[in-house]
Amino acid sequence: MDTLVKAMTKNGAIRILVTDTTQTVQEAASRHKTLPTASAALGRTLSATALLGSQLKDKDESVTVQINGKGPLGTILCEANMVGEVRGFVANPDVILINDETHKLDVGKAVGKDGTLRVIRNTRMKADFTGTVELQTGEIGDDFAYYFTVSEQTPSAVSLGVLVGKDNEILASGGLLIQMLPSASETDLLIAEDVVKHLRPISEMIHDGMTPDSIALALFEDVEIMGMSTVKFKCSCSKDHLLDALSTIDRDELEIMIKEDKGAEITCHFCNTTYQFTEDELTRIHRKS
Ligand code: ZN
Repeated sequence: MDTLVKAMTKNGAIRILVTDTTQTVQEAASRHKTLPTASAALGRTLSATALLGSQLKDKDESVTVQINGKGPLGTILCEANMVGEVRGFVANPDVILINDETHKLDVGKAVGKDGTLRVIRNTRMKADFTGTVELQTGEIGDDFAYYFTVSEQTPSAVSLGVLVGKDNEILASGGLLIQMLPSASETDLLIAEDVVKHLRPISEMIHDGMTPDSIALALFEDVEIMGMSTVKFKCSCSKDHLLDALSTIDRDELEIMIKEDKGAEITCHFCNTTYQFTEDELTRIHRKS
């Protein structure tokens, strides 16, 4: 089971969140049959969304992240709640782009940077909080750091990474968020800058067998673990939800599905599960609507 750790330096100046999302991203990659660069982009976004989800205050709330940089991947859409359930998809999963110089997956080019990163907090209150920033590099980690610093006014460093193996399997995936809290002094800031400068890629640390708590403890001298939770890929879709959705569509459209198509097949974007509806089921909805 994937985990997420919340930690803090003992003087309360620096907040640290670390998550290992290897299994979660493997499940997303298998469900959506993503090629490596799409796996990396979707995985990075899922990790960041899990980190955002862990900061929610109420179990009925959720957070949605939408990235569109007009690159070949198209839109990446992910959601998470505070109990660590995440789901997401990328519009075009068939993307593999390798950087000519680094020979690494070129997530920045695949995402593109001519667009925005949007974070929507879905609360029970009327006005959902939305923050939107222009994409900086399309590498996703940099873009989230910019989002936290500008939109949430919390100076932050973000490291997101996915290591993809030769057979497209996910070898390691994770996310790290380091945030300066209002009580941080100039010295704390310098210490944090130094830590960030020498940071190893998060996917590499996880691939070496480090756990989120051991990563958090290794970053600064005096770190206290505040809590640990689990993260997993879980979609909230169900046949009942879709039956409700079908009952709201146009009666003529329903009739076409019944008479011409003799049924319907609906696929959930988030988890790629396909649901079949028989002629009888559709006729029942038609009678009720
Ligand atoms: Zn679903």
